[in-house]
Amino acid sequence: MSKKKKNASQSKKFKNDHPLVLFKKSPIHGWGGFARTEIRKGKRIIEYIGPKLTKKESEQELENLNCYVFTVNDDFDLDGSVKWNPARYLNHSCKPNCESDVKKDRVWIYSTKKIKKGQELTYNYGHELEDYEDRPCACGAKGCIGYMVAEEHFETLKETEASLQ
Ligand SMILES: [Zn+2]
Repeated sequence: MSKKKKNASQSKKFKNDHPLVLFKKSPIHGWGGFARTEIRKGKRIIEYIGPKLTKKESEQELENLNCYVFTVNDDFDLDGSVKWNPARYLNHSCKPNCESDVKKDRVWIYSTKKIKKGQELTYNYGHELEDYEDRPCACGAKGCIGYMVAEEHFETLKETEASLQ
């Protein structure tokens, strides 16, 4: 990282003062985001931000096991691992109450149901099936599929796991 870039990210330090989300330790994994107040369904909650990565840079980051790379479009991705992106604390769940959505090349996390004050905010990270064994899920939801994969892969994963037993 260049010196200039580093200084820029340090000046944008994360403050735990988001109007809707309180960040604290999560029973799922590390830190999580929790509703500070009741949140209605369909509310735009927080933006997932970070430096833009070209697809080439993105590949490199993924090789370095940067798990905060977010695919935005065919041209670029975002590196969400920076301190000033508290949205990176939101955990994955197999039964989430939020979802991510790309609008005009920006990534937003929306509520998909009414969320009570104090509930943890989660969304499905939308991972492909590839190397799913490396991403065990600890979301604790009833019907947790055991690994972090996009919902569209749940059935295939269930079949794969069943055939291994
Ligand atoms: Zn799960």
